[in-house]
Amino acid sequence: MDDVVIIGGGIIGTATAYFLSKEGRKVKVIERDPTYKTASFPLSLGGFRRQFFQKENILLGKFAREFIFQIPELLKTEQNPKPTASMVTNGYLLMFGSEHAEEQYKALENHKECEAGTKNIKGSELTKFFPYINSEGIETATFTDNQSEGWIDPFMFHSALKSKAVELGAEFIKGDVKTLKEIKAKTIISAAGCWTKELLEDIPVEPQKHTVFRVKCPKHIPEMPLTGDLTSGVYWRPEGKEYLAGSPKSVFEAKDLEPAWDDFEELVWPALAHRIPAMEELKLTGGWAGYYDCNRLDNNAVVGKHPKFDNVYLATGFTGRGLMQAPGIGRALTELITTGSYQSIDISNMAVERVLGKKARPEPYVL
Ligand SMILES: Cc1cc2nc3c(=O)[nH]c(=O)nc-3n(C[C@H](O)[C@H](O)[C@H](O)COP(=O)(O)OP(=O)(O)OC[C@H]3O[C@@H](n4cnc5c(N)ncnc54)[C@H](O)[C@@H]3O)c2cc1C
Repeated sequence: MDDVVIIGGGIIGTATAYFLSKEGRKVKVIERDPTYKTASFPLSLGGFRRQFFQKENILLGKFAREFIFQIPELLKTEQNPKPTASMVTNGYLLMFGSEHAEEQYKALENHKECEAGTKNIKGSELTKFFPYINSEGIETATFTDNQSEGWIDPFMFHSALKSKAVELGAEFIKGDVKTLKEIKAKTIISAAGCWTKELLEDIPVEPQKHTVFRVKCPKHIPEMPLTGDLTSGVYWRPEGKEYLAGSPKSVFEAKDLEPAWDDFEELVWPALAHRIPAMEELKLTGGWAGYYDCNRLDNNAVVGKHPKFDNVYLATGFTGRGLMQAPGIGRALTELITTGSYQSIDISNMAVERVLGKKARPEPYVL
């Protein structure tokens, strides 16, 4: 019998393998597609932030920053002595219209309690800090400028975590797990992302297709933060000399990962040009689509032991924030499995019982 088997070698499975191996557990990770063609993590924007509504999401975002900054020491291996995830710390800027302002003021109380270090300004003050933005229709905005938020290269992050987990003794094997019954292990962890339902039917997490566009603009603003305009749902960030911009439209039960190209002209370009007049002149240079592991109950993660089994744990439903939450979730699951309770960040609110009992705890700030 194996000690720990993790199903799914994406970012969550790999971060969990790293933390459990550090504690001396013998971990086997089973991944059906080691090229990760349709897995969520390589198709993500790599953003890490602490600007959320729910406290556990704020705290997990803070730990993401702490962990990412320590990648060179924590993840160095004999083979990869200088690991990096190409971190950019331009911060995040989230802008809210009157319809979201009250909710954001409540979120800011949680930011304060969690010492998130975010700055809040009136919409009318936006241009003092971000002169290229048209503040029309923005009531309030929140941002960071202290290197506490930004983005990384998701694939490099995964590779560094995987190399370190392997050095610590974890084994990654190719395999497609059809049912939990085929696994004989003391502890089983489902980290199957948006495909969790194939193994655990009662978990309401489903693939939700999101499209991201790559665009070029003659005026480049390299210091621009990852910016989310909650009035349109469009978000964007610099990527080298170009920008990436996400469509506000998402689709369940998508047939394939062909990007929704029409969204660019219909939704994304008009929203960008309105908010940043310099972006009137845009050239579309590419794009892709990927799946969010969307928790249809409340857009919040589902993490913990499954009450219907003696030895099955799971982590899924990150709905657009699984990359940044991976270190915190890997550590939390390791604490739960090795000590019986959470020691660092208490994420009991994400428990499986919550979704089975349909007790929604929504996270509104999904980008
Ligand atoms: C366009 C886009 C932008 C995003 N932007 C961000 C962002 O800026 N910041 C952020 O934090 N998050 C972001 N995300 C979300 C993030 O990518 C996901 O939440 C995260 O990758 C989930 O990690 P995971 O390991 O659970 O799933 P995945 O990365 O999908 O990995 C799951 C793995 O499990 C394997 N698997 C599934 N079932 C089985 C089985 N039965 N047997 C064997 N293997 C199996 C799959 O092949 C897959 O490799 C974004 C996602 C998308 C699509």
